[in-house]
Amino acid sequence: VRSVGGAAYRLPHTGSSGLADGARIPAAAVSAEDAMLMARLARRGPLSMRLVLTPRTLPDADSYNVIADLPGTDKADEIVIVSGHLDSWDLATGAHDDAVGVASAMAVLETLKRLDYRPRRTIRMIAWMNEENGTRGARGYLAAEQGNVEKHFGAIESDNGAGRPFGMRTSVGPQAMKLFTPLQAALQPLGAGVIQRQDALQTGDLSGLERAGVPSFAPLIDTSDYFDYHHTPADTLDKVDPDNLRRHVAVMTATAWFLANLEQPIGRAAVPER
Ligand SMILES: [Zn+2]
Repeated sequence: VRSVGGAAYRLPHTGSSGLADGARIPAAAVSAEDAMLMARLARRGPLSMRLVLTPRTLPDADSYNVIADLPGTDKADEIVIVSGHLDSWDLATGAHDDAVGVASAMAVLETLKRLDYRPRRTIRMIAWMNEENGTRGARGYLAAEQGNVEKHFGAIESDNGAGRPFGMRTSVGPQAMKLFTPLQAALQPLGAGVIQRQDALQTGDLSGLERAGVPSFAPLIDTSDYFDYHHTPADTLDKVDPDNLRRHVAVMTATAWFLANLEQPIGRAAVPER
C-alpha cells in the first residue's frame, strides 16, 4: 500500500516524470511517532530538522510474479485468485506490508491441501511483484491474461497488514450480496462475519482486473496500528500477532473455498467511470 510518501523513492533521479531533479520538490515519509514528536516540538517554538534521504533508483532488472495453481475439478478453467505482494519498502523486511499477505495466500493452498479439499474452480496463488512502485507485476499478468479475463471468477488480495480481521470487503454487484450469507455464517464464530460492499476496492494489484470486471475481495482489517509500522524500519515479524495471522488465514481460506465452489455466478464488478 502506498499511502504516504511514495515520492521519496523517486528523489535523486529524473524518473518517469521526465523532470530534472532541480525542477522537482523533494518529499519524504515519516512514521506516526516521528510526526507526533515533530508536532510536539513545533508547539514549543521554531523547529529545525536535518533530513537525510537515502533512496536511490537503480536501473530496471528482471523480476517475476510467483504463481501456483491448486487445480479445480469440474470448473478448472475458471480461476479464483488469492494473493499478496512480494516486494516491500527496503527499510525493513515488510512483515505487515506485505509478507503477511503472501504468507496467507500461500497458507490458503496449504490449508486446503492438508484437508484434502479439491475446489471446483482453480485457486491461483499469486505473489505479485512490484506493487510498491509501479504494479508492473499486476500489469504484466493482466496483459498476459487479457483474453482470459472472463474466466476469472473473483480475486482476493490481502494488503492491509495482519491486524484482526472482521470480515471481507468486496466489489461484487449489490445483487450478488445475498449469495454471501453462508460465508458470513461460516466466519461469524471468528468475529469476522462482516461483508462490506464497495463499488470498487481499487487495491494496488487487483485494480486492473477489477476494471476489467473481476470482482475484488480483501480482508476487512483493524488497521489502527498498521500505519505505525507500514513503510518504516519497524515493519518486522515481531509486530505480527500470531493469533490474528491465524484468523487472517482462516478468513482468506474460507473466502477462496467459498468462491471456488459457489454454484451461482456472482456477476462482474462494475467500477464507476470517473
Ligand atoms: Zn502493500
